[in-house]
Amino acid sequence: MITLHEAFEQGSADVKAAIQAFGASHQSTEPESECPPPEPDWKTAEKHFTQLTEVIMGAAIPHRPDRTSIVRRAEHEAIAFLLAVTQQTNFRCPICVMRHRSPQ
Ligand SMILES: [Zn+2]
Repeated sequence: MITLHEAFEQGSADVKAAIQAFGASHQSTEPESECPPPEPDWKTAEKHFTQLTEVIMGAAIPHRPDRTSIVRRAEHEAIAFLLAVTQQTNFRCPICVMRHRSPQ
């Protein structure tokens, strides 16, 4: 599966911008940390991009011989999703939203 980093390297300027915005939405904002790091939390963003791709892939047929093409399509869809969602102001990563909604 493609990583967020690879998608960034291979992506067009639009894709790069979308990935930057996605990464920027993952700054550490834990209440206990008094000074959040200025850099995006790429580790979390990377993890959530993978989960996002898996969610999209899960919607496809999981047991097909041409799994590679399904993975490719899911990756493509995930990037298309980032492109669309990062156009919105104050967008939130759907994986983060799901995390926050479920009780700890
Ligand atoms: Zn997230």
